[in-house]
Amino acid sequence: MTVVPVAVVFDWGGTLTPFHDVDLLDLWRVVARDLAPGHAAELTWLLEDTERQWWATEGGAGRSGTVMELLAAVSAAVGLDVSGAVHRVSARHDLRAWTPHTVCDPEALLLMHLVRARGLRIGLLTNTHWPRSWHSRWLARDGLLELFDARVYTNDLPFSKPHPGAFHAALASLGVSDPRSAVFVGDRPASDIAGARAVGMRTVLLSDGLRPQLEASGPAGGSQADAVIGRLGCLPGVLDRWAVSR
Ligand SMILES: [Mg+2]
Repeated sequence: MTVVPVAVVFDWGGTLTPFHDVDLLDLWRVVARDLAPGHAAELTWLLEDTERQWWATEGGAGRSGTVMELLAAVSAAVGLDVSGAVHRVSARHDLRAWTPHTVCDPEALLLMHLVRARGLRIGLLTNTHWPRSWHSRWLARDGLLELFDARVYTNDLPFSKPHPGAFHAALASLGVSDPRSAVFVGDRPASDIAGARAVGMRTVLLSDGLRPQLEASGPAGGSQADAVIGRLGCLPGVLDRWAVSR
């Protein structure tokens, strides 16, 4: 018997938000202007280079380094209070120019209301280096924050998608004991779709044809998703089909 969904868990970047490459260059620019207005260009280059080295060593190599760890490491490396500067520019909202990639898809707000109207719980599971408080601010700005029943950031976990522990953490946060009764919606075939399938969740791949092929398809690819949608607005139709496919 097919289990009827009781919850939907969304990926964030590239799913609830349009796909963007994310880098910190814009952040380093505003921080450099704050710390050394007369030498902003040189400091921007130094910060970017230090960041690159950090990801290649401590922050990378299979572990999920956090932005706070990165800022502490960069502060130590350049001998300036980079962490403090980030907090200052954040408080002054200088980061607005840096955050377009955090703006949610225009369909996301309506979609989440439609999912909730169907009596389904909504979760978030995102591989992220950003602190929870930054995500909360971005979601609140777009009117989405209160629509989630639970949000799991891998920044708070010792592992990231596709590790089964990340998906189990999201299910537990929603009070879902049977993974078959939860749907995962994501844009990455391996980390989202294959990872969610491995723990028994149903899967929906968002594939709008506009984003680069981020991960190879094939055995772990999108062909294994239970459904493929071209845009978020198609999800309620999929959920309605599954709601009656007992
Ligand atoms: Mg994604």
